[in-house]
Amino acid sequence: MEYVCFKCNKTVDLEKHSRVRCPFCGGKILYKQKPETVINVDAK
Ligand SMILES: [Zn+2]
Repeated sequence: MEYVCFKCNKTVDLEKHSRVRCPFCGGKILYKQKPETVINVDAK
């Protein structure tokens, strides 16, 4: 599952990194990334 670092706003995949810690800046505050709502308007 992907998380976003609170400090550097980079996406962190915690499945690869078992530690709850940003590998980029070492920040320990990560929050779940909001699911992207993709509205595909293809009515043509
Ligand atoms: Zn970070």
